[in-house]
Amino acid sequence: MKLFGGVETGGTKIVCVVGDGPDNIVAETAFPTTTPDETISRSIAFFREQMQSYELEALGIGTFGPVDLNTESATYGYITTTPKPGWSNVDLLGGFKRAIPVPMVIDTDVNAAAMGEFTWGNAKGIDPFVYYTIGTGIGMGGMVNHSLLHGLTHPEAGHMILRHDLKRDPFPGACTYHGDCFEGLATGFALEKRWNVRGETLPDEHPAWALEANYIAQALVNTILMLSPKKIVIGGGVMQRDVMLPLIRKQVVELLNGYVQSDQILSGIDTLIVPPGLGKKAGVLGAIALAQTFAQISG
Ligand code: ZN
Repeated sequence: MKLFGGVETGGTKIVCVVGDGPDNIVAETAFPTTTPDETISRSIAFFREQMQSYELEALGIGTFGPVDLNTESATYGYITTTPKPGWSNVDLLGGFKRAIPVPMVIDTDVNAAAMGEFTWGNAKGIDPFVYYTIGTGIGMGGMVNHSLLHGLTHPEAGHMILRHDLKRDPFPGACTYHGDCFEGLATGFALEKRWNVRGETLPDEHPAWALEANYIAQALVNTILMLSPKKIVIGGGVMQRDVMLPLIRKQVVELLNGYVQSDQILSGIDTLIVPPGLGKKAGVLGAIALAQTFAQISG
């Protein structure tokens, strides 16, 4: 049986699976992201063991970034400038390639999740579309003409500059590069730093959530105006709070103020801005989808 490997390297944990889609995952493991050497070695050991039972046609990796995705670059597949201790300038793709002799492809975790949602989830076959995750970090992946968005590097919409009303929100922001960019204002970490409490202890009616929804809505409005997506899938830890999605949809419509003439905004915002159909599995299933696409291309 020919199957595919999928790896999702997250900031706190790494997930590895073998399978060919959401209905056929034959093996799965997860463990904490520690040092690069230890984390990569444990992943390799998992796949080597699985390869005694299954033939792997290709392997896909979705990783936290920034990651060098330029296939012409000497550091293709490297994690580049992450603030995560020990992970800067790490040859992630090479570490796997040297140990597992199958075709291999790497992308960001959010591009992988976008691929998963496009293949099996709530954006199935629909593009242009974007995937956002709002959690300990903020990331965006995108699909245009059936291709994931790559450019100079990869989209970094988590760091877009937003309108920051200092009277309403004097919190200076928490991004080490920009202070009050989107990530600086709206990650789960920023939310807890601003209010000095654990996010889960804040009740639904606390102003923290309306403010949070405002920043996310601003980012989605910018995205709608720039890319005209037919679907926005939005997941991540902050979105686990049920009040968020309705608040965000409402504020997106208000901020656009009737300007974009699309039924999906004027009367169907619930179908434009949606949660991930694959839930928390979007990233690792997307890594499988990346591997499948790569295997088709490399023939
Ligand atoms: Zn930033």
